[in-house]
Amino acid sequence: MPLQPLLPAAAIAANLAEIKPPLRSQEAFVEASRCLYCFDAPCIMACPTGIDIPAFIKKIAFGNPAGAAKTILTANILGASCARVCPTQVLCEGACVLEDRDEQPIQIGRLQRFATDDVEQRGIKVLRPSAKNSGKKIAVIGAGPAGLGCAAELAQLGHSVTVFEKQRQAGGLNTYGIAYYKMKPEVSLAEVEIVRSLGVEIRCGVTVGRDLPVSQLEQDFAAIFVGVGLGAATKLRIPGEDLPEVMDALDFISAIHTEPHEQIPLGRRVAVIGAGNTAIDAVTQSKRLGADRAFIVYRRGEPEMSAYDFEYAQAKDDGAHFLFHAAPVAVVATNGHVSGLKLVRTRLVGDKVEILPNTEWIEPCDLVLKAVGQEKQAKLLRDLFPQLTLEAKGVIQRDPLTGATNLPHVFTGGDCANGGREVVNAVGEGKKSAHAIHAFLTREIATLPVQPSRLGAKQGPTGSGLLRPIRAHELEKELRQK
Ligand SMILES: Cc1cc2nc3c(=O)[nH]c(=O)nc-3n(C[C@H](O)[C@H](O)[C@H](O)COP(=O)(O)OP(=O)(O)OC[C@H]3O[C@@H](n4cnc5c(N)ncnc54)[C@H](O)[C@@H]3O)c2cc1C
Ligand code: SF4
Repeated sequence: MPLQPLLPAAAIAANLAEIKPPLRSQEAFVEASRCLYCFDAPCIMACPTGIDIPAFIKKIAFGNPAGAAKTILTANILGASCARVCPTQVLCEGACVLEDRDEQPIQIGRLQRFATDDVEQRGIKVLRPSAKNSGKKIAVIGAGPAGLGCAAELAQLGHSVTVFEKQRQAGGLNTYGIAYYKMKPEVSLAEVEIVRSLGVEIRCGVTVGRDLPVSQLEQDFAAIFVGVGLGAATKLRIPGEDLPEVMDALDFISAIHTEPHEQIPLGRRVAVIGAGNTAIDAVTQSKRLGADRAFIVYRRGEPEMSAYDFEYAQAKDDGAHFLFHAAPVAVVATNGHVSGLKLVRTRLVGDKVEILPNTEWIEPCDLVLKAVGQEKQAKLLRDLFPQLTLEAKGVIQRDPLTGATNLPHVFTGGDCANGGREVVNAVGEGKKSAHAIHAFLTREIATLPVQPSRLGAKQGPTGSGLLRPIRAHELEKELRQK
């Protein structure tokens, strides 16, 4: 059956409403007052951006939400989106000491949202552009959480930063990929404006490598941060994959962020292949857009799912079904449209998936969403920087402490380097790289008599007058020793 919108606008709006509503002032005060303001707080250790959680919670308890927002945003420029999308259950809230006392952990995410919403709604700017001007220019490729985290930190360190983004709007997956009921794109776009307000130039609609060669960036900028994220959904490589009703789950989720909801075409029966968090977001949103039956197909079992338990529970609550130990072998069509998915039974032998012979069956469906992971950007990265070292998995090889790569002027972080984690990891890695770039630039290495396009091509012997390729982490070590 051809795809078509299934529900009227009002019903979809209700279904896609935020699942975690904001705290009211009184609720925030009560919740903040439960915090023990621990010394050496484990919640801080669990936050990849190191937000001083007890400090901001105390400010809320003392009626100073703007002060709380300043503490949050100074550590994590995307504090408003992280408040909504972070898997807090396994990060800060998972580490809260109250759990050991059989009490509910502090709702850190919701308190963080309370503070950041407060300043956004009242139009208070808690961060100001740096008064310093180092005279150094840095290019950032990709305006996702990693790129924005790096750019904001560099700007606050007094550097001049230009971000190049291929999409029409900045924010990366925060703007286009997060489940709509967790966060609306407006929150991400407001954060982009905060980054701009720090003096960062963000140029959207520029694909580096196509519209702008890297050699130009190397000429114009002293260092480059690469935060290009991951690529398209991994292919299934089964017959029928090219049918019009077989889509990347990410494209389907992105349409929810860009199209009027009542116009999004959907199947009455939706098959989602994969069992990670993207698959869960796709199956849950299919149900919320009106699918009669939406089901996950996964070749392993429930214990092997990579989705978080709370995401899995959410999908089951929304009425999603799960077919475990089943693998797709073909997409079936009737009159040129998807009508089913041919599956086989599987079993796990150790870590390996074995297909059981003579177990084929057809599961009826009108739409197939692929969510078996995103491709790594190996080709793009090789095209951009032929001398950049990649790991076998296709991600950039880097020093995890600093984001330094084998090219002295190139730093990286986020999904293209960590293989795909969370928003908060990308922001944290962008921030760390910003400090490494700062160390790299303020030690005057970029002013050595080397053409930027030759940086990394050959490492001249130390003291030869060519670049001495000091890595940022070596710099940090040197600085620590002084
Ligand atoms: C469906 C889905 C749901 C998710 N849900 C959550 C969640 O609920 N919570 C959570 O914490 N994390 C979630 N994540 C993970 C999170 O979105 C990512 O970890 C995070 O966005 C990574 O940030 P990044 O900056 O590395 O990459 P991205 O967000 O992918 O940003 C990379 C940017 O680089 C741009 N770019 C790429 N190539 C070029 C080029 N050549 N020139 C210019 N620009 C370029 C891209 O357009 C993009 O804007 C989800 C991921 C997916 C796929
Ligand atoms: S661990 Fe819990 S109680 Fe302690 S400071 Fe953090 S949020 Fe407060």
